[in-house]
Amino acid sequence: MAKHFVIIGGGPAGNTAATYAARFGAKVTMIERDLIGGAAHLRDCVPSKAMIATGSALGTINDAQRMGLTNVSATLDFDALRRRIGSIGERLERSTTTLLESQGVKLLSGTGRMVGPHEVVAETEAGLIELEADVVLLATGSRPRIPEWAHVDGERILTTRDAYPPRTLPEHLVVIGSGVTGVEFVHMFKSFGSEVTLIVSRQQVLPLKDPEVAAALEADFLARGVMLLKGAKASNGVATADGVTIECTDGRIVTGSHALLAIGSIPNTDNLGLGDVGVELINGYVKIDHNCQSSVPHVYAAGDISGKLPLSSVASLQGRKIAEHAMGLHSGPHRHIDYEKAASAIFTEPEIADVGLAEVDAFAVGRKIRVTKVPFSANAKALIEDDARGFVKIISDPATGVVLGGAIVGRHAAELISVIALAVSAGLRVADLHESLFVHPSMAEALTDAAE
Ligand SMILES: Cc1cc2nc3c(=O)[nH]c(=O)nc-3n(C[C@H](O)[C@H](O)[C@H](O)COP(=O)(O)OP(=O)(O)OC[C@H]3O[C@@H](n4cnc5c(N)ncnc54)[C@H](O)[C@@H]3O)c2cc1C
Repeated sequence: MAKHFVIIGGGPAGNTAATYAARFGAKVTMIERDLIGGAAHLRDCVPSKAMIATGSALGTINDAQRMGLTNVSATLDFDALRRRIGSIGERLERSTTTLLESQGVKLLSGTGRMVGPHEVVAETEAGLIELEADVVLLATGSRPRIPEWAHVDGERILTTRDAYPPRTLPEHLVVIGSGVTGVEFVHMFKSFGSEVTLIVSRQQVLPLKDPEVAAALEADFLARGVMLLKGAKASNGVATADGVTIECTDGRIVTGSHALLAIGSIPNTDNLGLGDVGVELINGYVKIDHNCQSSVPHVYAAGDISGKLPLSSVASLQGRKIAEHAMGLHSGPHRHIDYEKAASAIFTEPEIADVGLAEVDAFAVGRKIRVTKVPFSANAKALIEDDARGFVKIISDPATGVVLGGAIVGRHAAELISVIALAVSAGLRVADLHESLFVHPSMAEALTDAAE
């Protein structure tokens, strides 16, 4: 008899596992309480990138005289933007649902929780549905972290999920948190024309990134008039009829029309019945091993609740690996995920992307590395596209030449990093990149130059 997979959560982790498990011959039931596609498609990743793309188009049009065009200008239509975000979400939800149904996955609309080691219930509009599972996958994602002092009202004090887009364009947005999400929202609202103040708790935006990369972004923010409040930690916030006042621990006070919290997320592991079935948590995240198995071996966890990298790409890969492992198809050199080799990007302008070993981390542990770096200022395609900001940096092993990591700041960085990601995961050497014949003119030529 086919193994029965019960999956709680229909984001990238859940729906990728469902598709593969069904393809491998399992009977699959997936419970989703909101929309198929998960927060990734409908609440976080995709809507934020869609808003950024609109801001980018606006900037390109309004800067068009630099490309030799005149009389071109555009203004933002907030209602049209809202419709655009909605329609992308609907299309993604439809296509994901169609894909899952075409593989024979049974979709239940409701809230799932475990009530025994092999028993899951789905609370649906039609009542409780009891399911007997051979394999359970917990893939319930995460939600924005809200500090106690913040009285989020969705009007003046917002989480990222209230911002696709907010009811009105903020005149002056105060962004709290300067990690990846915070800086993307700074860029997004600045490109829509809002004044933006960014509260940075340390002395560097993107505190976990290479300082050179962070400095390039800070320079761009300052040039665009973003106000940076460094070494400041928000400790209180009050919404008034026409604005917000944010207090910092050192007594500084920032006022604006709106505030947006971007201080991380918390895993959706509450109310899943995990304690009763013995699934161990660490700081609210499900503790998993290298096969994504929890402390109860037939209960797997993937995506944001697994406490690994909170990226859609990682969630999907974990989902596929789980389907392979649970179906006994787990073999070969790539059977475990190497999280160190995950590429990630920040969709600001210039874009930022990195993969593998960072220069700063190598120095921290005294590891010998070779760093080669070229700016885009000499790259023909960058000049053609009128944006030669940024650089490519490649980190390699000085003894073997093997590519260990890289960082790119510049136009299309999120696409270009894939070349370095492939080199890192395939163990290629800098010489392999240097000998490759890339298209001319292309931004990718900077990679072969940096690989000298
Ligand atoms: C603003 C923002 C931008 C981001 N941008 C990017 C990006 O550019 N690239 C990238 O790779 N990542 C990005 N991320 C991260 C990415 O969105 C997450 O890593 C990804 O969504 C995790 O996928 P998941 O499957 O774990 O969970 P989710 O996508 O959160 O899906 C989980 C699903 O489970 C459902 N659920 C929860 N509890 C239950 C329950 N009890 N019963 C039934 N259903 C339940 C939820 O409704 C949800 O649909 C971004 C995140 C944020 C906040």
